[in-house]
Parts: sequence; C-alpha cells; structure tokens
Amino acid sequence: MPELPEVETLCRQLRSKIVSSRIAGISILDSRLQLPEHVKGQQVISVTRRGKWIVIGLDDGRRLEIHLRMTGRLLWQEKEAALPMHCRLVFDLYSHQVVIVDPRRFATLSLAGGGEGHDGAVDALASRCAETLIAKGCKRRRPLKSFLMDQGIIRGIGNIYACEILYRAGLSPRRETAGLSPDDWRNVEKAIGAVLTKAIDCRGTSISDWRDLFGNKGEYQKELLVYGREGQKCHRCGELVHRERLLGRGTWFCPGCQM
Ligand SMILES: [Zn+2]
Repeated sequence: MPELPEVETLCRQLRSKIVSSRIAGISILDSRLQLPEHVKGQQVISVTRRGKWIVIGLDDGRRLEIHLRMTGRLLWQEKEAALPMHCRLVFDLYSHQVVIVDPRRFATLSLAGGGEGHDGAVDALASRCAETLIAKGCKRRRPLKSFLMDQGIIRGIGNIYACEILYRAGLSPRRETAGLSPDDWRNVEKAIGAVLTKAIDCRGTSISDWRDLFGNKGEYQKELLVYGREGQKCHRCGELVHRERLLGRGTWFCPGCQM
C-alpha cells in the first residue's frame, strides 16, 4: 500500500513532468470511477501532497485529488503507448499521458473546489509534529503503533513505516500513548522525520508491487531494520526480532531494545 514516501515520490515526479501542461482529456476505463467534469483544457498549476492524497491544482482554482488506496499506481507514458494491465484511467496531456493502474480498483479520483479541506490531522512531516502528537496522545490509552497509523491524527504513516519508526525510537508498538514522556514523543518525532525522509530519498519501498511514476522500484526495502525480519538478530542489541499481530496488522519489533 502506498504510504507517505511513495505518494511524495509520485508528487515530486509528477511536478517535474506535468506542471504547466494542459489536460487534453480524461478517459475512464473503469465504471467505478466518475468522470470529473470540465477539466478538459485546464492547465495544471501545482502538484502537492496532503497526507496520502495527491492534489493536482488546476488554473480555475479547483483540485483533482487522487488517493491510491491499496494497489493504485501512476505511470508516465508516451502518448498512444500500449496501456498496461489493470489500467483504470488515462490523463491525456497532449504529448504524454499519465495512467492510473490499480488491480484491486480501490483508488479514488475526485474534483474539489474552493479552499483546502482541513480535518485537524497533522502531516507526518510537518514541523511541530511532536506538539500535536503530545496534545492528542497524552490522554489516550491506546497502543502507540495504532495511534501513529490513525490518519485522523497524523497523516501518511502506514504499517511498514510505523514499524521502522518505533524501532528507531526504541519504543514498543504496544506502549500506551498516555504513558509516554515528552522525551519519548520527541524521539518519535525524530524517528518519523528520519525514516520518512530517507524513504523519500529512496523513492519508497518495493516489497511487492510499488513502482514510481516511471515504473522503477523504490530502494527503501534495503534499509529496513525491523520490518519483515522476524527470527533475525536485532542490529542494535542482538535479540531476535519478534512478529505478532497488533490490531489486525503484522507488527515487527525487538523485545530486547523497544521498551
Ligand atoms: Zn534490539
């Protein structure tokens, strides 16, 4: 599932390719997607990320918002290139096209007008992220990992990066948020920044089907310290990495050095 680093990678790559382009048309190949009206002829003026949303700003002030959900991908192609399997939508940009590829068909596309939607959640890479987390976490008795993956609190962290962030912070995924000290929260914030920034530099994690805008694999799978390493020695303390299910998700951690 694309998380913040993968979506940020797509946004950066899209920005370098489609800003200033005009939309010649949109072809919907999957009836589950709605055709946004009146976007033909619009110029793309920006590409930004909001949590895991890709937000394409148009010159009339509206925004095309794409969420890739489980298996969505975007692919940059020469115009008239053969469409890949599971293609659901084609943005025609005159000289090139961007297609949405999505085997499980959960990705969504919508057209929004007016100002930015604010849901009160903080972006995982926002400055002063720790203050928001302390304010929202200090009164809740819930496992830290599920707190970090709650998109209504902090936007952009999914399962892989939550495991890596907690390993780097030296905190157990099961720790209750209400029991964390200000220093713990600052360690969480530092770990979020370090893990996500490095993952963006690596263009995301290609454990299964993630590919960037140009069809290339990401590289962060080579940097994973705990995710997917059950039964192997912890790089930090030598204890064996443990895997368990926590609130329905596979969770990797070191019982020796994550307290
Ligand atoms: Zn350890």
